[in-house]
Amino acid sequence: MKIDHQRLRRNTVHLLKTTGSSDAEATAVADHLVDANLAGHDSHGVGMLPHYVRNLKAGGLYPNRAPRIVSESDSFAVWDGQNGYGQVIAADAMRWGIGAARKQGVAVHGLRNTHHIGRVGAYGELAAAEGLLSVHFVNGNSGPPRVSPFLGREGRMSTNPICIAVPGTKTTKPIILDFATSRIALGKVRVAYNEGKKVPDGALLDAEGRPTDDPKVIYESQGTVTPFGEHKGYGLALIAELLAGAIVGSGTIQPENPRDRGILNGMLTVVIDPERMTDRSFVDREIDAMIGYLKTTAPSDPAHPVLVPGEPERLQRARRMAEGIEVDATTWRDIEDAAKSVGTTYDAP
Ligand code: NAD
Repeated sequence: MKIDHQRLRRNTVHLLKTTGSSDAEATAVADHLVDANLAGHDSHGVGMLPHYVRNLKAGGLYPNRAPRIVSESDSFAVWDGQNGYGQVIAADAMRWGIGAARKQGVAVHGLRNTHHIGRVGAYGELAAAEGLLSVHFVNGNSGPPRVSPFLGREGRMSTNPICIAVPGTKTTKPIILDFATSRIALGKVRVAYNEGKKVPDGALLDAEGRPTDDPKVIYESQGTVTPFGEHKGYGLALIAELLAGAIVGSGTIQPENPRDRGILNGMLTVVIDPERMTDRSFVDREIDAMIGYLKTTAPSDPAHPVLVPGEPERLQRARRMAEGIEVDATTWRDIEDAAKSVGTTYDAP
């Protein structure tokens, strides 16, 4: 069914408040989730709510939890999210990073142990909106590792996203590159499983290591998701694991670390003010010229013009704002079940 984004937001705020979040937290998390749906990433939208409710009950997620500051100087900070809502903590950390990068030219911050931070591009968009660029490396160190290393057939990592955001100009929108380092984000495997659909061929391996397009292998056996881009994507996934897990101090997914702590993300973020490196007018001129040059490419398929990163999300957002957000029946039922388990309904009046 297609649901208006405002209704989805209201329902989500209601459920989050019922499970203990303050108005401000419920609104921030709901905005993030619904915006992920609007951007076309249903994997990181309201379909995550049943997981959040389960983790709230199991003690892997705590509402209204402020992060602990591990260290802070002018341009470096490390925060421990202490299993609080990642969408709130990561956005607050970005606001700190933006302020520090304005003053110092560069800011680096690390997040440990935040519950699921969601769509990482949301944080890149915050920097880009302020004329800054940002780079984000994320790991997930709790739950079963579902991504196999290149040439392997057993899970050893999570889907470890990377995001790089470059600010736009007067005429060019921000360039937001934001992707999981697996062939397909795990949430998209969940969405395909819920909808009874297949995923791109070879994105998954079954428990015997044979390539498959059937999402059942993840939920009904010990199948794995493959890294994107063969050895190169695998290398990037590993770097994200080490930067966000080891360097930031969150811990990697290696088996000596506990695995039953909800959905935990670590993140290393670098925010840079480009004006400290080059004259802004030169940067803007080069960005405009380069993006314009790309856009003059004749498409190999006329139905699919050349896009730049960040554009598919903007197009989807405009479409879904106008037409509503498609939520499949299984996802809707799972959210309703989660709401019932805490004594309310999701689609409350
Ligand atoms: P994806 O495969 O849809 O790739 C998205 C990126 O590719 C975007 O930058 C998009 O603008 C760009 N893109 C898509 N089509 C394009 C085209 N035709 N031309 C140019 N650029 C194009 O994304 P994904 O790997 O499925 O990841 C989805 C989301 O999941 C991301 O927002 C990511 O941050 C999030 N995620 C989060 C976690 C977590 O633990 N918090 C884990 C994995 C993924």
